[in-house]
Amino acid sequence: MITYGHFIGGKRVAGTSGRTTEVFQPMDGSVRGTVALASKAELAEAVANAKAAQPAWAATNPQRRARVLMKFLELAAKANDELADILAREHGKTVADAKGDIQRGIEVVEYCIGAPQMMKGEYTEGAGPGIDIYSMRQPLGVVAGITPFNFPAMIPLWKAGPAIAAGNAFILKPSERDPGVPLRLAELFLEAGLPPGIFNVVNGDKESVDAILDHPDIKAIGFVGSTPIAEYIYGRGCSNGKRVQCFGGAKNHMVIMPDADMDQAVDALIGAGYGSAGERCMAISVAVPVGQKTAEELVRRLIPRVESLKIGPSTDSSADFGPVVTKAALERIKGYVDLGVQEGAKLKVDGRGFRMQGYENGFYMGGCLFDEVTPDMRIYKEEIFGPVLSVVRARDYEEGLRLCNDHEYGNGVAIFTRDGDAARDFAAKVEVGMVGVNVPIPVPLAYYTFGGWKRSSFGDLNQHGPDAFRFYTKTKTVTSRWPSGIKDGASFVIPTMG
Ligand code: NAD
Repeated sequence: MITYGHFIGGKRVAGTSGRTTEVFQPMDGSVRGTVALASKAELAEAVANAKAAQPAWAATNPQRRARVLMKFLELAAKANDELADILAREHGKTVADAKGDIQRGIEVVEYCIGAPQMMKGEYTEGAGPGIDIYSMRQPLGVVAGITPFNFPAMIPLWKAGPAIAAGNAFILKPSERDPGVPLRLAELFLEAGLPPGIFNVVNGDKESVDAILDHPDIKAIGFVGSTPIAEYIYGRGCSNGKRVQCFGGAKNHMVIMPDADMDQAVDALIGAGYGSAGERCMAISVAVPVGQKTAEELVRRLIPRVESLKIGPSTDSSADFGPVVTKAALERIKGYVDLGVQEGAKLKVDGRGFRMQGYENGFYMGGCLFDEVTPDMRIYKEEIFGPVLSVVRARDYEEGLRLCNDHEYGNGVAIFTRDGDAARDFAAKVEVGMVGVNVPIPVPLAYYTFGGWKRSSFGDLNQHGPDAFRFYTKTKTVTSRWPSGIKDGASFVIPTMG
């Protein structure tokens, strides 16, 4: 049994609140350990440590800060197998998929090595008589990240990389479901030369989140998780005067046009719909075939593919996907499948009864496929976050586009077609933040920004890419006049350079 505490001031510390929760190993349903749930006082201690350490880190030149990140990358590469093993055991995703989770986080840290470039300001010489103007980017101070269970390496690194590279001290409140990887990342950062107090991990639940939201020394909060919590954190954080960005839930559509390469479209739906047991904010959960013929062919081809998905324990390298994260998640997902049947959708493949031989207590379910789902059904409107794909048939392209635009979520979307006109029109008109053209999971690379629209995102800057540096810094603009000898008397009108 592992006992997870926190990582504060450069070391692992035990929790003192007396409150803990269990961490499971989804592949066999066993209890892997317990994690401490921080109190307000423990959070305050982490913030005090971070606040004390931050000025010296901010004063370290950006190239030296970048070198710490480079060293971290070296150490993380060496620890890759270990990190992937912890991740797969606590989350349930396969080891291969866990490596992808780590890699996507690493790529953002690689991007952050460009901090000296990203932190550069602007300069205008001679904006007026003897007047020069320059802007500079400065860190905010102590900032926080609150992250979900489904990417326990990637999303903490998406937050920590830019925050630290910009000269802030960072408090991570990871998901209490899989705290093992974030704690190891904190150790690796320390080993890489990051000063104690710059990367802190405070494990916990609502109590520690509320303490973050209310702490006056925390200047910015980056959140990723479900929409109801995103909305709550955005509201409370903003009303406390903090800079807040919150990324929420999703219901990602994939429109399949009649001219699409059907082999490619089916492969894409199988991978993007069922990979990681559908527990991805960029998973495709709705397939929208356009036209009756496309729908018939798509469903006919999908059925045997969903029936033959290989589900296995996280350590099985031949498995397509593993168990879901908890028993509660399993029950919630199965409940949605029951609901879909009651709502009148046609359940073409039913994975509810799946049992994993030898792992009977694991949190497994098979892939499910619904056909003839309609927009009024709750299984369409709500995020299921499991291995369940819904087919919503559209009469024509316009109806397919309208479905994507009318849905309350707008994280990712894809269109499969050979028609450049349709693809271009779709990319221009769809009200979704990340669009794939013949690409089912269009997660932008680290040097672009990541973020949804509508109720998938609250706040006005995206994650990673240039926006991350904007989010974790503030701009100061200096207008200076040299030589000092210029005298033009008192002026009572607003200064202009005219
Ligand atoms: P969650 O909202 O339950 O938890 C996210 C974080 O909020 C965790 O750290 C958790 O401890 C904390 N939290 C939970 N309940 C809280 C409460 N009542 N008050 C304060 N804090 C609370 O989400 P999850 O189940 O861990 O993750 C899955 C969700 O995250 C899905 O909805 C998925 O779509 C979303 N997600 C979104 C993105 C994105 O970029 N848009 C990326 C990954 C995951």
